Amino acid sequence: MKKIEDLNVDVDTIGASGKEEDLYIEPEVFEMGLGDEDVHITRPLHIHYKITRNNENMHAIIHICGQIDTYCSRCLSPMVYPVDLTLDTQYVPAEDGMPDDLEAEREDQHLGYYRKTLMLGEYIISEIIVSLPIYYVCDSRCKGLCPICGVNLNKGPCICKRPVDPKFDILKQLKIHG
Ligand SMILES: [Zn+2]
Ligand SMILES: [Zn+2]
Repeated sequence: MKKIEDLNVDVDTIGASGKEEDLYIEPEVFEMGLGDEDVHITRPLHIHYKITRNNENMHAIIHICGQIDTYCSRCLSPMVYPVDLTLDTQYVPAEDGMPDDLEAEREDQHLGYYRKTLMLGEYIISEIIVSLPIYYVCDSRCKGLCPICGVNLNKGPCICKRPVDPKFDILKQLKIHG
């Protein structure tokens, strides 16, 4: 899958027993970006979908699995964010007079429209974008960077936060009391 249109499914190919497919979307499909220049897809995303039909009504269950390459917002280190999404949506025939862009007419995550093809690609990309966090954190225990010297505190304390040498502390006390 090198183009988002490749994910469209012609409803005529969905038989009474439904249609099931396993495929990979190449990273080039996401070239236009995920809305953040620090967020990239560099490996293929695995897609599995199963579409069943009840006359004109189509029901799609789509599983998306892969990873995003980005940076931790606290320590700025490169990190991988896993993508693991299950989408469940119905498609019903477009009503007369609906505009060309049927994906824009989608009522919610769970109800879309079609004429001859189900536009799974646009739906999948928009759902991936919606699922992404605003901030990425490499680990919930990430200590981030020291705001004073910029050292990555996950790798050890920096000079600003180095604990006071106990010997020095005793000297200070002696001075105060002496
Ligand atoms: Zn981090
Ligand atoms: Zn510091």
